[in-house]
Amino acid sequence: MSKQTGGISVNTENIFPIIKKWLYSEKDIFLRELVSNACDAVTKHRRLVSLGEATESAAPYRIDVRLDKKARTITVEDNGIGMSEEELKRYICSIALSGAVDFINKYEGEGENGKNGIIGHFGLGFYSAFMVAEQVEIHTRSHTGAPAVHWSCNGEGEYEIDADDREEAGTEVILHLEKSEKEYLAPEKLRAMLGKYCAFMPVPIYFDDGTKKEDAEEVPVNDVAPLWQKPVSDCTDEEYKDFYKKLFADFREPLFYIHLNADYPLNFKGILYFPRLGNRFDSLEGEVKLYYNQVFVADNVGEVIPEYLLMLRGVLDCPELPLNVSRSYLQTNSYVAKLSAHIVKKVADKLVSLAKKDRPYFESVWSDIKPFVEYAALRDEKFRDRVKDHLLLALTDGTHVTIDEYLEGAKEKHENTIYYTTDKALQAQYIAMYREAGIAVAELDGVLDTQFIAAEEAKRAGVRFLRVDADLAHLKEGDATENEALTTLFTEVAGEDKLTVKQENLASTAAPCVLSVSEESRRMEDMMRMYRLSAGEDGAFAFPLDMTLTLNLNAPLIAKLSALIDTDRTRAVAVATFIYRLALLQSRKLKEEEMTALLSEGYTLLGDLL
Ligand code: ADP
Repeated sequence: MSKQTGGISVNTENIFPIIKKWLYSEKDIFLRELVSNACDAVTKHRRLVSLGEATESAAPYRIDVRLDKKARTITVEDNGIGMSEEELKRYICSIALSGAVDFINKYEGEGENGKNGIIGHFGLGFYSAFMVAEQVEIHTRSHTGAPAVHWSCNGEGEYEIDADDREEAGTEVILHLEKSEKEYLAPEKLRAMLGKYCAFMPVPIYFDDGTKKEDAEEVPVNDVAPLWQKPVSDCTDEEYKDFYKKLFADFREPLFYIHLNADYPLNFKGILYFPRLGNRFDSLEGEVKLYYNQVFVADNVGEVIPEYLLMLRGVLDCPELPLNVSRSYLQTNSYVAKLSAHIVKKVADKLVSLAKKDRPYFESVWSDIKPFVEYAALRDEKFRDRVKDHLLLALTDGTHVTIDEYLEGAKEKHENTIYYTTDKALQAQYIAMYREAGIAVAELDGVLDTQFIAAEEAKRAGVRFLRVDADLAHLKEGDATENEALTTLFTEVAGEDKLTVKQENLASTAAPCVLSVSEESRRMEDMMRMYRLSAGEDGAFAFPLDMTLTLNLNAPLIAKLSALIDTDRTRAVAVATFIYRLALLQSRKLKEEEMTALLSEGYTLLGDLL
């Protein structure tokens, strides 16, 4: 056979299968499309009334969603603007279809982007009904009083138009569900869909699952005036908290909230909440719901909220974004980038104002927000610059100071040096020595602290963070007279370990010795641990650390040991070994054999006491 070429043609007959198969990844949204069309119809009528171009309707505006299981129909009815025959032909029969065909011709092959564009730009929302219906009927009457019309269309796109006896202005759309779409006959399913997509639409929506009694009290399924639409000055603290609890079914109160209300050119509203997370890192993922004029669009839109603020919860209403947005659209849209920057700024501003206006509260929530503030500061320089004066250090005595306050207090004794601990229990002895010396110690035991410290040092000229076991400069008291025999003894005891033995008179007499590892060397190890480069199976390290063992000549134990070296060297070795192991224990995780040795040496020494 000879080679043939040709182009794929698209016409109105084959748009239906396209709609059914791949137009929407989520079928459920047909209800959102129909109800939001109904909302638009009401909004348009409202506007015409306010302009004096239409007469006010006697009945209050409403949307009814009805399920009839027996007839297998879902009906969406509104008392909005309605359509004349001509409008129906123009809006429903022709433009939408031909527009979509043009669109498909134009964007064929653009994948996800193209698909989403069709819906947003060419008004195919209504046709999403055909994803679930084998036949769709419309009964509509224009508010202008033009005769009512009835339209009926099957799944192949063949339609009929005839006269209708509808009396009130408005539109009724009836979906005759396909046999296979049983799930939409379940009232709970429809209720859940209304709850997800229509909870804040601006016209009251009533749902009748087919069991409604004539005189039953009617309660709309939506809140027509959600809190984010109200002026900030009209909202109370309680309303913000209630709104949060309702929206996220979280009984815990949020830590704080931010009501966003950006005018032109950003033009969006919203409320963001910082949820209470405690130390539970399992629920870091927040939830920001994106709305388009009170119509739900999507959850967790990472493109709008920077990834480091994703634990935020809340709502954003952006009428500037199309109702059907695709991720790729959001990623490349410059409006979204501005929106995101605005949100980051607002979050930073909120933190700063909280720190300034209510420092005790800011301190009380610091442990909850610290991981995020640090992460955001690491990821975004602008954010860090905004909050830098309010970054807190939690001190071991339970109080909090800002980094600047700490440095101010350190001026006399240890200028530009911030001492910290990564493990309050393990490093308790060091902490106690610093406390005795009147030096504050910060607790920096979070997952991000190592990186955070390094980043802050880079930004604050001359400032360094030292772990309590890194440096003893401020714990010494006078000059020491070295005893060489002690140095020899401990060097022998350390065996293969890379150890420098020093002797000092430390101010505190409680600790016989202190093992220190230079800050650089330990940080290097921390990094390697993070990338799992040096840790063995037991978490201990093959990487030899440069350690310094400082013997405290002021401690009675060392004085006694010193005397014992000459009289009973074997015993002196046993005691020194045990002292060394205890020092190691405070510095790092022991290896299996070290732990076994520590215990057996301890028991032997105890046995000797009896
Ligand atoms: P879009 O809503 O994006 O314009 P649709 O396909 O959903 O696209 O609807 C096409 C048009 O049909 C609407 O713009 C509107 O003019 C008309 N329409 C749809 N539903 C209704 C309704 N319930 N009442 C009045 N007009 C409607």
